[in-house]
Amino acid sequence: TSFFDSLTEQKPDPLLELIAKFAADPRSGKIDLGVGVYRDETGRTPVMRAVKAAERHLWETQESKSYIGPEGDPAFLRALALETFGEHHGGRLLAGIQTPGGTGALRLAAELLALDKRRKIWIGTPTWVNHQAIFAAVGLQVGTYRFFDIGKQAVLDDEMLATLQNATPGDAVLLQTSCHNPTGAGLSPQNWLDIADIIAARGLLPLFDNAYQGLGHGRIEDAAGMMTVIETVGEAMVAVSCSKSFSLYRERTGAVYLFGDQHAQLNKGIGNLASHARASYSMPPAHGAAIVAAILQEPSRRHAWVDELSEMRNRIAEIRRAVAEAFAQFRPELANIASQEGMFSLLPISPENVGQLQAEHGIYMPDSGRINVAGMRVEDVASVAQRIGPYLA
Ligand code: PMP
Repeated sequence: TSFFDSLTEQKPDPLLELIAKFAADPRSGKIDLGVGVYRDETGRTPVMRAVKAAERHLWETQESKSYIGPEGDPAFLRALALETFGEHHGGRLLAGIQTPGGTGALRLAAELLALDKRRKIWIGTPTWVNHQAIFAAVGLQVGTYRFFDIGKQAVLDDEMLATLQNATPGDAVLLQTSCHNPTGAGLSPQNWLDIADIIAARGLLPLFDNAYQGLGHGRIEDAAGMMTVIETVGEAMVAVSCSKSFSLYRERTGAVYLFGDQHAQLNKGIGNLASHARASYSMPPAHGAAIVAAILQEPSRRHAWVDELSEMRNRIAEIRRAVAEAFAQFRPELANIASQEGMFSLLPISPENVGQLQAEHGIYMPDSGRINVAGMRVEDVASVAQRIGPYLA
């Protein structure tokens, strides 16, 4: 008997299946709203200008590809921390470790949390599909609460606060820093203050998933809620992804940062993360992190990056306004899409109708109804909305 035969069959990733189906669709008017990456007005996901410049610089100056340690590149970690958390970083000490993307960062952080099997991590639903899988993979208990009402296009802040109020001290709380995947829904400054107070009072540990900083309202604006929590609570973990904000997706670039008040405690935390890293992938891929460091440390490259990130953010905001206006004719609540942030919004639509829309109009989205607004050109929004509107729940 074959060892491989004894394994359980795994379902293919539905989003990858959707991409394959879309590619095979011969219709010229087809449109892909399922993709998880930023697209520009011409439908491409380009290499950013600053990334090209940094790669040129690296090609000319890099002298060795010898090993680095499991913690990765200290220059990258310093520069990314400054860019992400500001000079003051919430008045707390911080320490970081470079990881293979934001997923690697979440997985590494989850490994630490899972050291205590009594601990739960609380996540709002719906959330990024991989969150459940990551926490399940390390054997962490997951508690859920409803985060978003699709029909009302509104955050269920009361349910969220009530859940945190009843969490057990020591439990972790997963929070998306900005540009919530898949809802686009942001939390108000008052929500963040309330969350910070409850987390501090209950002795909970916040884990931030920071994958879209700069694509919502701005680099600093997008981090404001997270910084409120870090200032108030004292201890926190942050998983940073450079995939979207530097368009480095396949370079697998990210980091985990730990916040606290004592160097010795943070060093212990990083030491544990590094030992997990050593036992799984040894050390993170260097190229993407070297690019990020080369951008953030050199003013003209950093300037080019800030500019291009703003272009991306402004394009997303412009499409959002058009999408909101066009869809509000079918459901008034969908006007909220204009004030949501990041690439994703969640449409009220049944899986059956998602299938119908695909079959009849060549419009592709996952069964959840998540759309990537950056998958559209501004001039196509009205016609896309006309085709989707009749299928909304
Ligand atoms: N968190 C969220 C909410 C995401 O949407 C993603 C990417 N889809 C990630 C983390 C991880 O991104 P990556 O591993 O590609 O850096």
